[in-house]
Amino acid sequence: MLKLTSYNSSAFAHLAAAHLREHAIMAGVIDASMSVITGVMATTFNRGMYELVIASKRDEDRARELIEQLETNPPEIDPDWEDDVAPDLSKLDRKLIPNCPGCDWPIMIARPLGPCQRCGTRYDVLEMIFDKHGPEALAPCYETEPPLANMTDAQVCDIAIDCPACSYPLDGLGVRGHCPECSTYFDRRELFNGLLGA
Ligand SMILES: [Zn+2]
Ligand SMILES: [Zn+2]
Repeated sequence: MLKLTSYNSSAFAHLAAAHLREHAIMAGVIDASMSVITGVMATTFNRGMYELVIASKRDEDRARELIEQLETNPPEIDPDWEDDVAPDLSKLDRKLIPNCPGCDWPIMIARPLGPCQRCGTRYDVLEMIFDKHGPEALAPCYETEPPLANMTDAQVCDIAIDCPACSYPLDGLGVRGHCPECSTYFDRRELFNGLLGA
């Protein structure tokens, strides 16, 4: 597990993680504000309290590139999301994600409020889904069930992860087992769920 960067906005941190997961990088957010000391430090040094982490160091360069893209052109965040729980938009049913009302191209989930990078139209993706499909379509975004619960073992094995003890790449070694280098037991689902804060 590797810490990429930290944010003081929970909503932005979750969007960044969703953006990475959209690009096949297993990423999650750790709420570092749980610790009082970290909270104080965060205020003092103006550093974020939400750490963006990825599962494997091997994805670091690609992940930093994607985050840089997101930061040079940051998405707008609905102020309401800051309050309690930011919706995890990566859990939306892909089929329900609408196209841009301006140019009819698929909406990027990392930019839930636009503007569309293609035509500049502003939209609110949650509102659009709510209007068209009702509130139950948004329910998965607020669920706390382990995010990998409905992924098959094969899908889970496709996500790059390294041994939590010695960083040996665990590619092709199944959902759970022992690291061939240091024999530490691993369970991919548990490691990812830990990473995703579930
Ligand atoms: Zn557009
Ligand atoms: Zn190991």
